[in-house]
Amino acid sequence: MQNKELPDFFSKKENEFWMTEDERGTMKLNYRLKNIISAKHSQYQHVAIVDSYDFGRCLVLDGIIQTTALDGCIYNEMISHVPLVTHPNPQNVLVIGGGDCGAANEVSKYDEPQSIDMVEIDAVVVEECRKHLPEVAGQGDMDKRVNILYKDGLVHVKEKTDHYDIAIIDSSDPVGPATKLFEKEFYTDVSRCLKEDGLMVCQSESPVFYRDIMLKTFNTLKELFPIVRLYLAVVPSYPGGLWSFTLASKKYDPLNADLTRLCKHTKYINQGVFKGSFNLPNFMREYIE
Ligand code: SAM
Repeated sequence: MQNKELPDFFSKKENEFWMTEDERGTMKLNYRLKNIISAKHSQYQHVAIVDSYDFGRCLVLDGIIQTTALDGCIYNEMISHVPLVTHPNPQNVLVIGGGDCGAANEVSKYDEPQSIDMVEIDAVVVEECRKHLPEVAGQGDMDKRVNILYKDGLVHVKEKTDHYDIAIIDSSDPVGPATKLFEKEFYTDVSRCLKEDGLMVCQSESPVFYRDIMLKTFNTLKELFPIVRLYLAVVPSYPGGLWSFTLASKKYDPLNADLTRLCKHTKYINQGVFKGSFNLPNFMREYIE
């Protein structure tokens, strides 16, 4: 790949490839790369698959790491198995975003879902991950229950009422096409597209560096759902490591879930991790109490 084709977050210094993730004005993270496997401008964003020394292959959107071969399993298991086990009979599952296919693959490990709609805005993300990131996207054909719809998640949830048991919002950070996926209007539509005992989960950013986004998500969902729980995992490739997820439910509480239903074919989550992920550190308890 010619250097001149590459955006500024890639650089070559003395025959070494580097990627600089511009987290914010005061914090930039540098990753040494073995190779840039592919780099494309889609209609929505810059989509790259890189091979890094420390995380293996990574999906990078607009210069921000989304998922990696090393730790993609942590994020994808936590955003998928927790809602799948909390709902006792999840038949219709919606994944919004999730173009790396990791969440849809985790949902597919359960027998109960009859359909898994994955609504991803950007076909290029799915194509590139399926081609170059099998550690996350899987190999061979996807489970027959997965229907990939290339459309805006905002539009999709406006079109459905009383339809899904679970909605998993696996979005990128709240910039670009994902901005509106963090707003009250969207969560209101998600609530309407869920059945009367449905539940949703979203990634709600870093409790360390983006407390404002996490709390806004938590407080907004509290206005819309009777049960709202924050839970945590450590995802080393996300700035700050500690990552929050928010589960909002009309009926079922993850604290009362039947953990014997938890799938055993996982790398990260088990019954102890599931339970422990809801034990929040004091600084987070103070934020939400
Ligand atoms: N695990 C990741 C994280 O926390 O950074 C998210 C991964 S996933 C690749 C995020 C996906 O959301 C991207 O592929 C992006 O194209 C998609 N996306 C962003 N906005 C969207 C929208 N409005 N509707 C549907 N998909 C969207």
